[in-house]
Amino acid sequence: MTSLPATATSKKLGLVIDLDICVGCHACAVNCKEWNTGGHSAPLTDWNAYSADEEEDGDEGAWGVWFNRIHTFEAGEGEDARTVHFPRSCLHCETPDCVTVCPTGASYKRAEDGIVLVNADLCIGCKLCSWACPYGAREYDKTEGVMKKCTLCVDKIYNENLEERDRVPACVSTCPAGARHYGDLGDPGSDVSKLVAERGGYELMPEMGYKPVNRYLPPRPRRTEAADIGAPERLADLAVKVPAAEATENAKGVLGWLDQMLSR
Ligand code: SF4
Ligand code: SF4
Repeated sequence: MTSLPATATSKKLGLVIDLDICVGCHACAVNCKEWNTGGHSAPLTDWNAYSADEEEDGDEGAWGVWFNRIHTFEAGEGEDARTVHFPRSCLHCETPDCVTVCPTGASYKRAEDGIVLVNADLCIGCKLCSWACPYGAREYDKTEGVMKKCTLCVDKIYNENLEERDRVPACVSTCPAGARHYGDLGDPGSDVSKLVAERGGYELMPEMGYKPVNRYLPPRPRRTEAADIGAPERLADLAVKVPAAEATENAKGVLGWLDQMLSR
């Protein structure tokens, strides 16, 4: 059994993922793989990457280690139906059994910032942690016989050789939609905490008691009316609202311009 840090600070580094904005492009997953293949937990194996076979050379078909995976679901019915893209990686839980079940001390939670990591030198590949994680966030590297997982790019976020603006996890820096945010969720004044408060960000499966640090922002309600998305009113509607020329002769702005054009 491995202990959680008894002297943890209030710092809780983590991600906030906006499910309203994520377009499921997988850029975050690919850049995660790219960074971590050359970084802290390198290499992240891929085996038979392009195989469609179930069985190849005595092994399954395509498989590999991905710290970040994107799942796509259809949610809702009728007018409320929508496609939701759900990125999944380690949530750096505050009280994770993935750490406490580890028999060797390989899995651990950092006291200084709450990041959950695996020490590959101590891991014996027993996979107990992957059974303990209710979020499916552990990744077993069959080639090396050890467990790996999202490190929150710990080798990038503290790298003083990088510009300060680049010291964010690879998934955050690459998201073309701006759906991923990184920061200290233990600080109520941080940008990520404010975002969570504004948008009603939530933790996944609180009933498990793992207290994930990462938060998800819910999709916004579908907007069906033109006014809901700030679209200009249709000219036909304006004609009904402003029927007579005399009613527009003193009009200003767009209406005034429209009146002048139509009066020529
Ligand atoms: S998400 Fe899973 S792997 Fe990550 S800290 Fe929580 S229990 Fe552990
Ligand atoms: S697979 Fe490795 S990290 Fe996971 S419980 Fe076993 S020894 Fe610990």
